[in-house]
Amino acid sequence: MIDRYSRQTLFCEIGKEGQRRLGNSCIVIIGCGALGTITATSLVRAGVGRVRIIDRDFIEYHNLQRQVLFDEEDIKAELPKAIAAEQHLKKVNSSIEIEGVVADVNYANIEKLVAGADLILDGLDNLETRLLINDVSLKHKIPWVYGGAISATGMTMNIVPHKTPCFRCVWASPTSGGIALTCDTAGVISPAPFIIGSLQTVEAMKILIGSQEINRDLITIDVWKGNFSRFNIGRRADCATCRGEYEFLEARFGTRTTSLCGQNAVQVLNPEVKGVSFERLSTHLGPVGEVSYNEFMLRFRVDNHEIVIFPDGRAIIKNTTDESLARGLYNKYIGA
Ligand SMILES: [Zn+2]
Repeated sequence: MIDRYSRQTLFCEIGKEGQRRLGNSCIVIIGCGALGTITATSLVRAGVGRVRIIDRDFIEYHNLQRQVLFDEEDIKAELPKAIAAEQHLKKVNSSIEIEGVVADVNYANIEKLVAGADLILDGLDNLETRLLINDVSLKHKIPWVYGGAISATGMTMNIVPHKTPCFRCVWASPTSGGIALTCDTAGVISPAPFIIGSLQTVEAMKILIGSQEINRDLITIDVWKGNFSRFNIGRRADCATCRGEYEFLEARFGTRTTSLCGQNAVQVLNPEVKGVSFERLSTHLGPVGEVSYNEFMLRFRVDNHEIVIFPDGRAIIKNTTDESLARGLYNKYIGA
């Protein structure tokens, strides 16, 4: 047991006391794609005592290019990512507790899923769930390490409740900034998430052992250009989350999706939308696809998808059961 971590305890910033603290810690990794597999494998090997890995997806061949925990056998066995990760990591370190949870993290279950955690690691691909993590982090005083990677770029930041700016101090709402970009549209090369995941890992170690040297900046990288930048971000005076208003956790904000069983369709709700003007929406959507409407619904066809929108902002996205795809189409064409 001592041998296993000897090279890490020799590093004096960690030492035996740091190792003991890691062993007594519990972390929750939300999202087990490229970033999640990097942080999970590193922190399991580092000896964090309890590791919970949450993901809702199955593994596909296009994941293997960068999601280091998975292999072709996992795909043939049709394993969910969380289960495959648990199985592989238990072979790496049998002296700690590892739990894979197959779940879609949302406002209704997140508090239960992070219960008992000393730290949350972000391995997500969407801003909406990150804002939810931010709420639960500040509400329950659990630090979290944000990380994102796309194309050849990435960023990371530590959020230590009430000590550093929170995520919403930087990203005020799910519709701000270039969030429409995803790995599915812009692509990603593995060094970007590998480096961001590694930076998340070292910050996680520092936070867990109580180091005073945790990073307080937003770090951005461009691995193709070889750029590495840091930005000192201040707390936003009017940040609702810092004031203790947990709007995402209370589901007062953001979209909600439900796959409609057996219909090959997903329903998207957005409590923020109070009323939709079909006339205005049809002007926006006209140049992009085929639009028709009456007083009850607007029908919009684009690529292989058909979107039906109701006056209260509710939409049904046809020809898919993929909730994140549906939410993406909603955000792209209807907006929040
Ligand atoms: Zn804030």
